[in-house]
Amino acid sequence: MFDYIIVGSGFVGSIIAERIASHLHKKVLIIEKRNHIGGNAYDFYNEEGILVHKYGPHVFHTRSKEVWEYLSHFTDWNIYQHETLGFIDGRFVPIPFNIHSLHQLFPQFLALRLEEKLIDQFGYNNKVPILKLKEIEDEDLQYLANYIYEKVFLNYTIKQWGVKPEELDPTVTGRVPVFVSKDNRYFQDPYQGTPKYGYTKMFENMLDHENIKLLLNTDYKDIVSVNHGNGEMKVFNQSFNGKVIYTGPIDYFFDYKHGKLPYRSLQFIFETHPMEKFQNTGQVNYPNDYEFTRITEFKHLTGQKHSKTTIAKEISLNYDAAKNEPYYPVKNNETQEQLKLYKKEAEKLHHIIFAGRLAEYQYYNMDAVVARALKVFNEKILK
Ligand SMILES: Cc1cc2nc3c(=O)[nH]c(=O)nc-3n(C[C@H](O)[C@H](O)[C@H](O)COP(=O)(O)OP(=O)(O)OC[C@H]3O[C@@H](n4cnc5c(N)ncnc54)[C@H](O)[C@@H]3O)c2cc1C
Repeated sequence: MFDYIIVGSGFVGSIIAERIASHLHKKVLIIEKRNHIGGNAYDFYNEEGILVHKYGPHVFHTRSKEVWEYLSHFTDWNIYQHETLGFIDGRFVPIPFNIHSLHQLFPQFLALRLEEKLIDQFGYNNKVPILKLKEIEDEDLQYLANYIYEKVFLNYTIKQWGVKPEELDPTVTGRVPVFVSKDNRYFQDPYQGTPKYGYTKMFENMLDHENIKLLLNTDYKDIVSVNHGNGEMKVFNQSFNGKVIYTGPIDYFFDYKHGKLPYRSLQFIFETHPMEKFQNTGQVNYPNDYEFTRITEFKHLTGQKHSKTTIAKEISLNYDAAKNEPYYPVKNNETQEQLKLYKKEAEKLHHIIFAGRLAEYQYYNMDAVVARALKVFNEKILK
């Protein structure tokens, strides 16, 4: 039999499996309901031979040397610095909105005045959340705040979440800054890139170990049963006394007994064009025009050379289990209360560790989820 069972082969499942197999020398079974590994970071070569990200564009970036070095055991890196443009009033300007954006959109005298006031008020090279800029009592900065709020933020957020920004958790709205800088990069983290041969290859290297067995196309409930009261587990109808690491949705685990946790979902429209380059940066946002929120051109991210190019247009919509994937948790008081009830149930099950974006109902960037997986291994499995 196996010493550990892991549900899900995304970052959390794969990293914990790798650690158990190579560090603890124990046997692991990974159960994955999809027909591939890698979770939402999965990528593949499409019919034209272009590497694309199935569940949306993924750019790896981190401040953590430890996280970068851990993943570097399984991949080399394509050095890529992510830049995003926004289509605002007919021009493509850097996003987050920065000093270059000011000069591209406003007459020179106004842009210079705003630049000076922004630097005076906030200092150079600082990021200011849009809602904070709105609070400043200065006519010019108020004008700028309202302009950015309306043209860059408001409609994008409405498209993405289907709500007004004020109704959102500040940790979500706070993610959209104004950057008092001439740095056009989307992220300033010292480690940034994409895996040289793709995310899936990186996951394959991680899981390539004799102690790891993988079962694809299988919902864990088909082979694992858990008594939610006393925690007794059966695997293939035999009692199982090892540990389970669960990275699927927490509400599904408990048969939705406290209701379904809502998610925002996405639809990706992939198009391949007979040209080397479709747009000037990996990502272009369309806050105000069209139904889609952004277009990603994968070759920018992956560094691949090809005579054709594939793009993905991204449309936000509500999650419907029958039609699409759960992407972003919808954080509000109601869902946090619901989550608390699930967490309470989870705490009673000592042999089951709930970790990852679905099991914790928490948006994690990849570097954060790598750090989380390593922490869970060190603190809950190794000890
Ligand atoms: C559109 C989008 C773009 C993103 N871009 C970036 C980016 O550019 N940079 C960045 O740092 N982060 C990005 N992220 C975040 C990144 O995707 C997550 O941090 C990461 O995928 C989380 O890994 P995980 O292991 O927690 O979950 P997942 O990757 O979701 O893995 C969970 C796995 O569990 C499996 N599973 C679920 N239920 C069951 C079941 N019942 N039985 C068996 N298996 C099951 C799933 O199929 C899945 O494979 C992005 C997220 C989204 C939504």
